Amino acid sequence: MNRKELLGEVDRIVIKVGTSSITKGCSTTSTSFMDSVARQVKALKDEGKEILIVTSGAIGIGLKTMNVIPKPNEIPIKQAAASVGQSILMQKWNESFDRYGLITAQILLTMDIYSDRESTLNLNNTIDSLLEHKVVPIFNENDAVCIKEIGPVFGDNDTLSAVIASRTDADLLLILSDVDGLYDKNPKLYEDAKFIPTVESISREVMDMAGDPTTNVGVGGMKTKIKAAIICRDAGCRMIIASSDVSDIILKTVGGEDFGTVFVSDNLLTKKRRWLKSACSHGIIDIDEGAVEAISNHQSLLPIGIKGVEGLFNRGDVVSIVCGEKTIAKGIPNYNSDEIFRIRGLHSEKIEEVLGYKTHDDVFMTENMVIF
Ligand code: GLU
Repeated sequence: MNRKELLGEVDRIVIKVGTSSITKGCSTTSTSFMDSVARQVKALKDEGKEILIVTSGAIGIGLKTMNVIPKPNEIPIKQAAASVGQSILMQKWNESFDRYGLITAQILLTMDIYSDRESTLNLNNTIDSLLEHKVVPIFNENDAVCIKEIGPVFGDNDTLSAVIASRTDADLLLILSDVDGLYDKNPKLYEDAKFIPTVESISREVMDMAGDPTTNVGVGGMKTKIKAAIICRDAGCRMIIASSDVSDIILKTVGGEDFGTVFVSDNLLTKKRRWLKSACSHGIIDIDEGAVEAISNHQSLLPIGIKGVEGLFNRGDVVSIVCGEKTIAKGIPNYNSDEIFRIRGLHSEKIEEVLGYKTHDDVFMTENMVIF
């Protein structure tokens, strides 16, 4: 299977950006890196994808700004640094996304929030509403109020990003890091370390490949990334670890190019299609062989390919799409049953003449169908 096939369909993507990527070679933040993330996110949003960002960097930027070097277990200064750094970090993200005409939202989370079901549900409503309004949600741990999140043992943004990907039913978690993926041993220490492009299952052997944190500025290392991969796998979400140094890495990995390590999941359908597959049908649309071929080749379903309609349904209801005896797909139509009955077998130019209006050329759009 090639990378595109391994990745499957990708609609909702969580992108985690590590501290070392954001601060690379700069006294505080790397504007060119943050701008390039914003540019690539804009391109993906223009394709209709939903993007959520998890950003690290608050503590690192805060410490640099305050010009202090904390002792290893000195928590209060890191919390103080997080509150200094977080507002600078968000200001920088705002500026970068603004250059591409995108609005950002800041969401700071602690582990207590993920553990409370009601808060999680409310949070998901907030996220859905932000995405509907084309806002880019940007998450970080609320380091200033929670010490657990700052220790090297428990909290880290790799785990945070995996939990967000899982709770929001994301299709892909992309972790951008200072490493280009998983190696069988630490490539910074061993010259003969072998790169692993694909992880099909997270075995003990894979877990043993993870060493300790790769840098001093971020919290996570390969261990936390493998832990993130397990959370993603359990949620049916794919995960990629890739280097933020590669230009256009977001577009390249999402486009199925062979960069980084992909952690495969059995579930290769988008959230919407997973839901469509299991939803009840309100009616049946019978289509001809030509239409079967078209929709199997990722084209929309036009009225000309429709032979018959059964049942009463509205736009937005789920209906089954059959060819004779065989169920081919399920989908959400742009027209109701009566309208489809009247325009069946016609060229799309005739829709307005017959109905007196036309909202769409197609009866089902590709993104609103799941093919069996
Ligand atoms: N939340 C931390 C920060 O913004 C980073 C944690 C991590 O590096 O994973 O500095």
